[in-house]
Amino acid sequence: MRANCGCKEGTTTNITIEGEFGADALWCTKCTYNLDVEELPVSDSIKDALLDWAAQYGVWIDLETNRLVEDAEQLEKTHNAAGQVLADKLKAELGIAYTIQFTPSVMSAS
Ligand SMILES: [Zn+2]
Repeated sequence: MRANCGCKEGTTTNITIEGEFGADALWCTKCTYNLDVEELPVSDSIKDALLDWAAQYGVWIDLETNRLVEDAEQLEKTHNAAGQVLADKLKAELGIAYTIQFTPSVMSAS
């Protein structure tokens, strides 16, 4: 089983991990389709971790004022580090048939 996406083949083994508001953390690297984490053939623990990670995306932004919060840089850095760990775990679970890459957030970078 593979993740469904918008590519001609309808599935992908090229996955990018990237946070975005209101979206799951996984994207097809080729067609940028937002992938359903539940469809991936990985353990529930990593699915939960991916969903948690996606939910934490952007905690460094105050959505009411649309400004960076205090400690934004540190919060974003921590989230990026966790994302890299998830990318490594996904690689380990999915094996060499998949190409996994991680795109860190750079919102607080000045
Ligand atoms: Zn695709």
